[in-house]
Amino acid sequence: HAAEHSGGMPVVHDERLDAAARDRFALAKELRDGLTRLELELHYQPKIDLYSGTLFGVEALVRWRHPQRGLVRPDEFIPIAEATGLVVPLTEQVLDGAVQQARLWLAQGSRVPVAVNISPACLLTDGFVERLRDRLDRHGLPCELLRLEITETALVTDPERAIAVLHTLTALGIRLSLDDFGTGYSSMSYLRRLPADELKIDRSFVTGLGRDGGRDDILVSAMVQLGHSLGLFVVAEGVEDAETADALAALGCDVGQGYWWSRPVPAAELHPWLPRPLPAPVQSQLPG
Ligand code: C2E
Ligand code: MG
Ligand code: MG
Ligand code: MG
Repeated sequence: HAAEHSGGMPVVHDERLDAAARDRFALAKELRDGLTRLELELHYQPKIDLYSGTLFGVEALVRWRHPQRGLVRPDEFIPIAEATGLVVPLTEQVLDGAVQQARLWLAQGSRVPVAVNISPACLLTDGFVERLRDRLDRHGLPCELLRLEITETALVTDPERAIAVLHTLTALGIRLSLDDFGTGYSSMSYLRRLPADELKIDRSFVTGLGRDGGRDDILVSAMVQLGHSLGLFVVAEGVEDAETADALAALGCDVGQGYWWSRPVPAAELHPWLPRPLPAPVQSQLPG
């Protein structure tokens, strides 16, 4: 029962809360095993240049192929990974997979910039930049083909160090995105201080385009102009229909991402979106 009485004071005992806590605990243990058994998979979602309709890049999104629970979405296990510190080895695996995939595409003749989501805690881990540089070296991937998506919560614990790390990354040629822009509490100061070259407007604003008397249209338009004034590419996430894609293009937004073009899919299914490999050089056949 929900409440018992002891000496007149109600002792709240919520069994649902217990169940949730037990579930999280179990999931944390299973995630630890899952990491060693390599149960993580990467899916990739295209980012489309709204002007040309061609591929701007892809975002790697992690899934967990759980032996009993099936394919688990990141929203269900990233928070647990963050709370238990497992997010550090998890991110190492994700980066490995994404870098290898980008290198494979390159070997096949397609330059595909790959974006990886980075949890704040990872950024501040000792040796993060060095390990990342080694990984790019080892796989022979040009730094500019890797992009890291960061949310502003990355700045909360230790802004000075986080910003220093981000500057080291961009000095190497790695690109940065401000993810979920507009949802945090300090977007403006974040924008001023981070060496990013891409701003991703959060899905919550994009979904509201063309509705509710145009409030979201005004906000998205302002974010596009702000991003452009600062020299950033502006990406809209969560584009689900043609009307939204058209509205974004009309507002001058550079790039769209969403189910309208493709859900996140395994690398093999991304094929239709990949840039055509450059043709092998042909012998010149000048007359005379
Ligand atoms: P995010 O980085 O903002 O990624 C976008 C999310 O929106 C993805 O959810 C994507 O599948 C979903 N999405 C894309 N297009 C549409 C659309 O048209 N409509 C709707 N309704 N949703 C769309 P997903 O894959 O479940 O990932 C959720 C979040 O989990 C991501 O949000 C990111 O913050 C986090 N995440 C994913 N992969 C990783 C990872 O490898 N490491 C870390 N640290 N976090 C990750
Ligand atoms: Mg992202
Ligand atoms: Mg996002
Ligand atoms: Mg999001």
